[in-house]
Amino acid sequence: MRVAVIGAGVIGLSTAQSIYEHYHSIVSPLTIEVYADRFTPLTTSDGAAGFWQPHLDDKGKIQETKWNKDTFDYLLSFLSSPESIKMGIFLQSGYNLCTEPVPDPSFKNTVLGFRQLTERELQMFPGYNYGWFNTALMVEGKTYLPWLMDWLQKRGVKFYHRKVESFKELAETGADVIINCTGVRSGELFINLCTATCRTRMAKVCLHITFVTKKTKDNDQTKD
Ligand SMILES: Cc1cc2nc3c(=O)[nH]c(=O)nc-3n(C[C@H](O)[C@H](O)[C@H](O)COP(=O)(O)OP(=O)(O)OC[C@H]3O[C@@H](n4cnc5c(N)ncnc54)[C@H](O)[C@@H]3O)c2cc1C
Repeated sequence: MRVAVIGAGVIGLSTAQSIYEHYHSIVSPLTIEVYADRFTPLTTSDGAAGFWQPHLDDKGKIQETKWNKDTFDYLLSFLSSPESIKMGIFLQSGYNLCTEPVPDPSFKNTVLGFRQLTERELQMFPGYNYGWFNTALMVEGKTYLPWLMDWLQKRGVKFYHRKVESFKELAETGADVIINCTGVRSGELFINLCTATCRTRMAKVCLHITFVTKKTKDNDQTKD
C-alpha cells in the first residue's frame, strides 16, 4: 500500500509517524511518502510555541477530550527519557485567569495538579476574580519537527519537496491513500477536488481508514 501525506508541519509528520507505528508490521508492503512545498524550519508549526492546552471549549464532545488526553499522555510519557530534550518537550505551569466564575475546563483531569486559585493568588492579578492553576506541556515546533523528520527518515519514509495541485495528481501516480495535512491552505486542495472519479476514490479511502482502524482496535486479524 502506498500512503501519501500532503504537508510536513506537525500534523503531517505526526500522521506519517502514526501510520508507520500502527501499520508497518501488519500492512506489507507499506510505502509512506510526505509531499510538501515547505519543510522545517519554514512551516507554521516551526513558529508555534507548542503549548498544550485546548483553546476552545469542546462543548461536551467526549471524543475531542479523549484525543486531547491521548496527546497529553503520549507526550508526557517521554518526559522521563533523555529523548524529551531532543523532542523539545518540557513541563509548563501557569495561571488561567477569568473575570467571573466559569465551569472547570474539559482538560482538568488531563493536566497535572489542576486546582482553583486561592484568594492570595487572585490578589496578585487585579481585575480577575476567578481562575485555576495547572501544569501542562510544551512541544516546541522548531525542535520537534526536525526530530520527527529524523525519526521518519530512519524508517524509510520518503520526502518530496513540491507543491501538490490536486489529490488527483497523486491518485494518478498510484497512491492508495491520500491524507490532507496542509494546515490553513487545506481548502485549496478541496477546491481542486472536482472530478467524480476523484471524489469516489477519496470516499473509499476514508472508509478504508475507518475499517482498518476499527479492526486494529478490536484486535481482529481478519484480512480485507
Ligand atoms: C505564532 C504562533 C504561535 C502558535 N502557538 C501555538 C501553541 O502554543 N500551541 C498550539 O497548539 N498551537 C500553536 N499555534 C498553532 C499551530 O502552529 C498550528 O495549529 C499548527 O502548526 C498547524 O500545523 P499543520 O501541520 O496543520 O500546518 P503547517 O505547520 O502550516 O503545515 C502545513 C504543511 O502543508 C504544506 N502544504 C500546504 N499546502 C500544500 C500544497 N498544496 N502542496 C504541498 N504542500 C502543501 C506546507 O508546506 C506545510 O508543510 C501557533 C501558531 C502561531 C502562528
